[in-house]
Amino acid sequence: MKPILYVIIPCYNEEEVLEVTCGIFIDEIKDLVNKNKISEESHIIYVDDGSKDKTWDIITRLSKCNGCINGIRLSRNRGHQNAVLAGLLESKDECDISITIDCDGQDDVHAMEDMVDAYNDGADIVYGVRSDRSTDTFFKRFTAESYYHLLNIMGVEVIFNHADYRLMSSKVLQELSKFKEVNLFLRGMVPLIGYKSTSVYYERHERMGGKSHYPLRKMLMLAFDGITSLSIKPIRLISVFGFLIALLSFIGIIWIVIGTINGNTIQGWASSTCLICMVSGVQMMSIGVIGEYIGKIYLEVKARPRYIISETTEGENRR
Ligand code: UDP
Ligand code: MG
Repeated sequence: MKPILYVIIPCYNEEEVLEVTCGIFIDEIKDLVNKNKISEESHIIYVDDGSKDKTWDIITRLSKCNGCINGIRLSRNRGHQNAVLAGLLESKDECDISITIDCDGQDDVHAMEDMVDAYNDGADIVYGVRSDRSTDTFFKRFTAESYYHLLNIMGVEVIFNHADYRLMSSKVLQELSKFKEVNLFLRGMVPLIGYKSTSVYYERHERMGGKSHYPLRKMLMLAFDGITSLSIKPIRLISVFGFLIALLSFIGIIWIVIGTINGNTIQGWASSTCLICMVSGVQMMSIGVIGEYIGKIYLEVKARPRYIISETTEGENRR
């Protein structure tokens, strides 16, 4: 039987690009239906992440003109990861496979065919991996690639150069729904689910319109979240660092005592002051890192809903 595919597309203030890329998604779905690879019941699900522009009006209009388009509107802006999760969890009982993709046309839609083929060959998760980052600036490429290495050093299993363009079967979605965390970093969570997975490669293009919602500040926040949500190595490193400093100080004290006994005066107040400043800086930074984790625990314990749906194009009251 041909699988029902749901393409989940998060959008935030995307009025400039939605109509430009919508046709590309519809054509790809039609192409896959014509090639008998997916069911005619396949859909595109736009998730409006609390946009303040005309995004929701456009989604409503598109869904009226195209039977294969549905929309979910979140009650406020919750960020890309939450919007993707909302689309996935709301679709998990209706589709056989889901593909998440951004709405700006940066990710090559033709990779969907390879993803569906990989699913038909037995994979439950298919990661879309960027084969080429030449459209990114040197800074973005360098920081992004270093970040993947850093994540691996921190013990977080991520696929190199894979972001959130991926296929997941409904079996995987059911398991994902059991992950109750509110600090989301999907590209680190999905590999934890397991099952058979593979990668397909695609070229990333420029945005087809509008502008990126990920300035450096947000990118750094996501990067930091990724590490602290999935690894406790930073706390462990602090312990190791603290131990090394304590050991060095102990050796220093012995050295000073021996010097005093031998009658050598201790010189270098300036360097001592520098050391004290450095160590207090390191201590404050360490408390900050631990505080980050406590903040995360605080958010997890409250277990607030990760998204709230205010309306859907199907007109159901899904709350
Ligand atoms: N997005 C979202 N909520 C946000 C920010 C972004 O749903 O708060 C969506 C956005 O509309 C796009 C995708 O997430 O479909 C990726 O965002 P963007 O293209 O701005 O990021 P970049 O590709 O520049 O990293
Ligand atoms: Mg983008």
